Amino acid sequence: MSFILVVLEQIDGKLHRSADEVLAAARSVSQLKGLPVVAALPGKGLADLAKSIHADQVIAVDHDLLDAYTADGYTAALSQLIAAREPNLVLFAHTYQTRDFAPKLAARHRKPLISDVTSVRVEDGSLVFVRQLFQGKLNADILASGQTVFASIQSGAYLAEDTGNLETTVETFTPQLNPDEIRQKPEAPFRDSDRAVDLSSANRIVAVGRGIQDQDSLSLVEDLASALGAEIGASRPICDNGWLPMERQVGSSGQTVAPSLYIAVGISGAIQHVVGMKGAKTIVAINKDPDAPVFEVADYGICADLFEVLPALTEEIRKSGN
Ligand code: FAD
Repeated sequence: MSFILVVLEQIDGKLHRSADEVLAAARSVSQLKGLPVVAALPGKGLADLAKSIHADQVIAVDHDLLDAYTADGYTAALSQLIAAREPNLVLFAHTYQTRDFAPKLAARHRKPLISDVTSVRVEDGSLVFVRQLFQGKLNADILASGQTVFASIQSGAYLAEDTGNLETTVETFTPQLNPDEIRQKPEAPFRDSDRAVDLSSANRIVAVGRGIQDQDSLSLVEDLASALGAEIGASRPICDNGWLPMERQVGSSGQTVAPSLYIAVGISGAIQHVVGMKGAKTIVAINKDPDAPVFEVADYGICADLFEVLPALTEEIRKSGN
């Protein structure tokens, strides 16, 4: 049978926030190749949730041993589904859970997994997957051959609203699972960063990256943010270093923001950061490297040393009375 299988993730009976994005990616490939979109939803007792999914068909992969996620359980269950139905393309959202089990699932079918895909197009009838290399400095086109191709889609690469508003049919698939084959003991699942600070409703954000070099220099960014009445955001290394709390992190594993003004200071523009801020109305990038990928998404670019630019910018904004 020819179809696209989208493996969806749910936590406590709620779909992961990336679900509609990966369904939108599948819908876009479906329009290019004329293949139906079938969603697989592993878990236990999820028939009601399955009905709400925007796909041509949903398969609830149902078993007591899938109640809590384990890499062995998901791999065994989905492997049986894939062997029975033989999809042409298997898509996942590029989440922590996908990273945990999808390589093993693809390897079990002796296929590579094309990870972190930002777009898919068709060339001479073949699917071409685009993924970034070297922190976004290069785009690689990857051609996949063979009957079943596995790929994970980067968060933010497709718009969640492009799934098409379809009525779906739900089928249940019950895999044969043996408790002895499941080696992991599930504990509380990993949670993305907390939302104690809600950057998603901020109108202006000054975001700081590794270009700031040390924690003491953050005062330069705080001065600019205070002059503008802006919230402070950050790239992941700043939060990983503990220089700012995790809830200030913008990006695929942090917050998604859409302010009217986003000033990226000393941030290279890696895809994982850009997916969290590309919805900003006006993006200003300050970076001393003219080839920094952040300039590709910026409306205004200042290619200079941030230690010279920030004090001058703050002073001018203060003088103007903002
Ligand atoms: P760098 O890439 O080191 O860039 C620093 C920039 O500062 C450079 O472009 C440099 O030219 C510039 N610079 C240096 N000195 C100066 C100066 N004096 N003046 C002006 N410019 C200067 N990242 C996120 O941000 N958010 C996420 O949610 C996120 N999630 C991730 C999830 C996963 C699974 C993975 C693998 C990675 C994730 N990352 C995330 C990390 C991401 O891939 C990048 O490593 C990170 O965004 C880089 O941060 P940066 O731009 O601050 O640092």
